[in-house]
Amino acid sequence: MSDIDITLDNVAVITNDGNPESTTDQPATGFDLLGLHPALLKAVQLSGYTEPTAVQAAAIPAAITGVDLAVTAATGSGKTAAFVLPALHRLATSELKSQRGAVGPRVLVLTPTRELTIQVSQACDTYGNQLRWLRTATVVGGVPYGAQLRAIKSPLDVLVATPGRLLDHLNSGNLNLSRVEVLVLDEADRMLDMGFIEDIEAIAAATPATRQTLLFSATLAGNVAKLAGKLMRSPQRIETHSHTDTNTFITQRLHWADGRGHKDRLLERLLTDPEIDQAIVFTSTQIDAERVAVSLEALGHAVAALHGGMPQGRRNHTLLGLRRRKLRILVATDVAARGIDVPTISHVINYGLPITAEDYVHRIGRTGRAGRTGLAITLAEYGDAHKIRSIERFTTQQIPVSTLEGLEPKARPANATGRPTRPHGARSGSERARPSGTTVRHGAPARRDFSDAPRRARRP
Ligand code: ADP
Ligand code: MG
Repeated sequence: MSDIDITLDNVAVITNDGNPESTTDQPATGFDLLGLHPALLKAVQLSGYTEPTAVQAAAIPAAITGVDLAVTAATGSGKTAAFVLPALHRLATSELKSQRGAVGPRVLVLTPTRELTIQVSQACDTYGNQLRWLRTATVVGGVPYGAQLRAIKSPLDVLVATPGRLLDHLNSGNLNLSRVEVLVLDEADRMLDMGFIEDIEAIAAATPATRQTLLFSATLAGNVAKLAGKLMRSPQRIETHSHTDTNTFITQRLHWADGRGHKDRLLERLLTDPEIDQAIVFTSTQIDAERVAVSLEALGHAVAALHGGMPQGRRNHTLLGLRRRKLRILVATDVAARGIDVPTISHVINYGLPITAEDYVHRIGRTGRAGRTGLAITLAEYGDAHKIRSIERFTTQQIPVSTLEGLEPKARPANATGRPTRPHGARSGSERARPSGTTVRHGAPARRDFSDAPRRARRP
């Protein structure tokens, strides 16, 4: 059972690992204790869930009271249900549900990618499948306006959207957000990032000031939550911490490479591993995603690329192919780094490094979903050693270095541990990565980019 300590500043620290399987030998904390509407309990039961995860046990009762929340919990720990269920509970228990003539949604969920928007809206359909009156719509870019316009002008309860297209509809007067009671930002730190913050502020300004605001992410550092201050009223902070070895394990590994050709050979060898059920290979650029996918296909892999430069139809088709196991390997940019839940992904391979340490946590979090184990392998050139260190500081974990026989790096690492020495002076003690094991704890230490330069809008 979760141990909830209310400490300073309204911070509820939940010392549990967020792993649905690890709760089975604990005293029952069944969903029926969370105060949810019976129709939602029924839907949860039909989903096959027996126990709420730690984040669900903490966030659902808190959200039901109507307060604003900033919630941090590991990748794959069930955050979607932790916001969808209390939002639907509000609709199910209020009298407005029969008010069919009204316009605009009562629950608005914003996400950073079209794929995640579709996934979250499917979760709304799943958890709301016993609420026959419930109407959900999605608004994403890259698709025709017609059907979307009809959907948002019809009676509507829940709208799940990416900010850009939503703002188009808002600015053209086709969308009314004056009925919004609950605003959710999934992947909240990304949504408050420079690429999105202005859109988010404009959208929030079109909703009533009395709304409830819920922020969820695996990485929501204190300073990001502060940034959200404008959007929230006396928010409660909920963090789930990983404390035990029975946690969801993501094993991490690092391979040093001499250059691109070497990385290609490492990747080819790694993908021959029969342990791989399905894998995502992350690249830094769209061009690399295409190139790597083409060369892996030539080797006979069931593979496709996914990136923001592709038409939406192909993006949807590709993700569906992954979910239906027609594809074994997805080669993707960071467009697939956040939120995507394909439980059969056993491996994540970083062919190109992510821009931020947060992105690393989200990328590798595409494996190890809901209590499963996963392996995350990073390929890095020595020139990228500072980026690896930055990731290690962020996760407070050292990534164990590994080699493949016959594919050892030629460039000699500058010290005996296989790690190049730090080029710019010594590291301070507080920054030193903790060399402990191979699992990453997805807590929320201070945010760290690799450079001090301001981040530009990134739409991968
Ligand atoms: P997060 O947003 O925290 O990364 P998701 O909401 O995508 O995680 O959920 C990850 C997976 O866990 C999904 O496949 C979901 O169906 C499953 N899941 C969620 N809640 C439970 C639960 N209480 N018991 C078992 N599985 C769950
Ligand atoms: Mg999520």
